[in-house]
Amino acid sequence: MIVRQVKAADVRNMTFVDWQPGERVNVIFGQNAQGKTNLLEGLWLFTGGKSFRGAKDSELVRLGAREARLQCRFDAEGREQTAEIRIEKRRRATLNGVALSSPTKLTGLFGAVVFSPDHLMMIKGSPELRRRFIDAALCQVSPSYIQTYSEYMHILTQRNALLKDWYRFADDGQLEAWNARLTEAATDVVLARCRYCDLLREKAIAVYDGLSGGKERFSIGYETEKGYAAMTREQITAYWAQALEQSRRADISAGFSTVGPHREDLTVEISDLSARHFGSQGQQRSAVLALKMAEAAVLRERTGEQPIILLDDVMSELDESRQDYLMNHLDGWQVFITCCDPSAIGRLSDGSVFKMENGSLQQV
Ligand code: ATP
Ligand code: MG
Repeated sequence: MIVRQVKAADVRNMTFVDWQPGERVNVIFGQNAQGKTNLLEGLWLFTGGKSFRGAKDSELVRLGAREARLQCRFDAEGREQTAEIRIEKRRRATLNGVALSSPTKLTGLFGAVVFSPDHLMMIKGSPELRRRFIDAALCQVSPSYIQTYSEYMHILTQRNALLKDWYRFADDGQLEAWNARLTEAATDVVLARCRYCDLLREKAIAVYDGLSGGKERFSIGYETEKGYAAMTREQITAYWAQALEQSRRADISAGFSTVGPHREDLTVEISDLSARHFGSQGQQRSAVLALKMAEAAVLRERTGEQPIILLDDVMSELDESRQDYLMNHLDGWQVFITCCDPSAIGRLSDGSVFKMENGSLQQV
């Protein structure tokens, strides 16, 4: 997919922007609070999702304006398409002039992967964020995973409800029945997550190698200490049947399920050390970038469509060679990079540069 033109009217601090980005790397620079992130946020809305900053729709409308309007002309599925988004109280979208029942209908057509500094929590933060990364990425490449995951969560909720009221309604038969169903569902979730990790691995390693100039070794694995990688489906099922049985007493006293894929983690290591506990700022940033770029590469491989890459404020904390890799070696992708420091632009060998100032964008 290639974005050809973006128009934004009354979006955040942008009164009117009419922008034709280049096909390769686009650098948007400017001082703090000028609207660089606002621009990427606007572009991201065409994925059908909400703001990657977690903002409410109403916050996206320029203060004092009634409605925010965005239009994007892009090539996807072999032809030119035009999508429009209007935000008044809520978001409404049209595609090629036809109103969509929901902006989420754009998902799958308009693909994007975003890095924002908040995503560093994916490495620094709790396992929940890493599970969310795998689950969200899986839902994009394998829509059947949505069913697999909801089935697991549904059974988990039912089992937890039983455990919560155990001292009033102790029911061994029912607990066993939930255990059997949870075992099956857990196996499906684990297998899907392990397979996705296998798809990511090589691609993430290649990006990390590029970023670190081959000086550091990157590795990922899903819940590596359990040794899933060497297990068959039957062995994983047997593992969970036993694990649930063994945690019975702990689960009853806690009043919820203390074990399961909802407590598992993606292990990320740099040169054999946990990136979460031992990684430097630059290493953690590089690790997130490697995972995000790998996510994009898997998406491209699986869907045949190439997502755009949005890198918000990615340059800080990266040394020159890592910055150079991002500017000049992400071949074959349409990339949007925001930065404050104009000196970084000097390193761009082939790409387009834009300056954002007080909500107005100009090609440099
Ligand atoms: P930094 O380099 O600090 O990340 P930035 O260029 O990415 O800066 P943005 O976050 O894109 O900055 O823009 C922030 C500016 O947009 C702020 O000055 C803020 O007041 C303004 N802004 C945000 N929402 C709205 C809105 N709904 N209406 C008008 N202005 C807004
Ligand atoms: Mg910003």
